[in-house]
Amino acid sequence: MNQYIETEKQYYMGTVRRQPVVIERGQGSRVWDTDGKEYLDFTAGWAVDCLGHCPPVMVQAIAEQASTLIQTSNQFYTLPQLKLVQILVENSALDKVFLCNSGAEANEGAIKLARKYGRENRNGAVEIITALDSFHGRTLGSLAATGNPHYQANFQPLMTGFVHVPYGDIEAIRKATNQNTCAVMLEPVQGEGGVNVPPADYLQEVRAWCDQEGLLLILDEIQTGIGRLGTLFGYEQFGVEPDVMTLAKAMGGGVPIGAFMCKDSCDVLRPGDHGSTYGGNALTAAAAYAVVKEVIDGGWVDHGRVMGERLKAGLERVKAAHEDSVKEVRGMGLLLAVEFHEAIAGEVVTSCNAGGLLLNPVRPTAVRFMPALNVSDAEVDIAVDRFERALVDAVERVSKG
Ligand SMILES: *Cc1c(COP(=O)(O)O)cnc(C)c1O
Repeated sequence: MNQYIETEKQYYMGTVRRQPVVIERGQGSRVWDTDGKEYLDFTAGWAVDCLGHCPPVMVQAIAEQASTLIQTSNQFYTLPQLKLVQILVENSALDKVFLCNSGAEANEGAIKLARKYGRENRNGAVEIITALDSFHGRTLGSLAATGNPHYQANFQPLMTGFVHVPYGDIEAIRKATNQNTCAVMLEPVQGEGGVNVPPADYLQEVRAWCDQEGLLLILDEIQTGIGRLGTLFGYEQFGVEPDVMTLAKAMGGGVPIGAFMCKDSCDVLRPGDHGSTYGGNALTAAAAYAVVKEVIDGGWVDHGRVMGERLKAGLERVKAAHEDSVKEVRGMGLLLAVEFHEAIAGEVVTSCNAGGLLLNPVRPTAVRFMPALNVSDAEVDIAVDRFERALVDAVERVSKG
């Protein structure tokens, strides 16, 4: 395995901090490394592999589509694209879809839509209010939207037109609103920011404020969408409907695809305003359609919610048994985090790797759990068990220095 890690170091730009695990293949919630060691994968391709690794419906859809039609340009109509946008609209509160290739791209599109909407409906207003600790992507527009100076520091000057306010604080949004504001853009639960669940009435208050002021509410559901929080879309958990919603990650189940959606009331983009060469190409659209259809028809949203409750209960038991090291268990559905008293997340993840459980150290003091929606009872129980052992191991290692 070490030779692969050396090869990466020699040839790949040093932009990513990887775990020393070379994954060769995956099936369901399990992956195997190049030494044949098996792991339970509770990172799921970063909340992407919502049906686990290589789900048969997806493998079949890709194989069939690959031998039928892979890519045309968007100069033409294709059937997989139409099936995909239809299933997204029919199962959400939104009316129109634009297909792209990633989360950042989806947010770029949503930002452009909001700016044009502001130009046409709010006297040229173009400013967007976003939250601190948010994550909206790493392209220059989505990076400017992201409320985290850590990601932005080396890339100034950033695109202007974003105001950042504390997450979960409706008063801060009210204060930041002015005649130049066109939209508020939020994650229903912040993912990369550390799995931060807002106060229960926050999104409803934001919705009411946006209605009152004529602002668009953009929900970035790139991480929370397609079942992650226990409902098909995160907004359902909070009793609100966004005007604009962005999707990616689980929507493709592992193929690179994203989307931004809007209500008819703000469907302002016209020919020439936006485009994408690969966006919604036949191959990825067919794969995404198969994934979304299976998530809905297979009952995996409900299953995921039940598994989320089971996992949370298990992690709460670990907390109760290890109050010295575990401070909090938080999150919704299958987007959960364990917060430690000390910055031991890296050590815990190292011990988890050794014990056969893949987790994400989302913060120095927290690890994130985001398994596939179709993870089983038994897999959840094994993961909790492995996590507890790894925690004990890591704490012991840290205390020995
Ligand atoms: C992952 C993520 C993005 C960026 O998606 P990419 O596909 O990596 O560009 C944007 N917003 C949220 C909430 C995310 O979790």
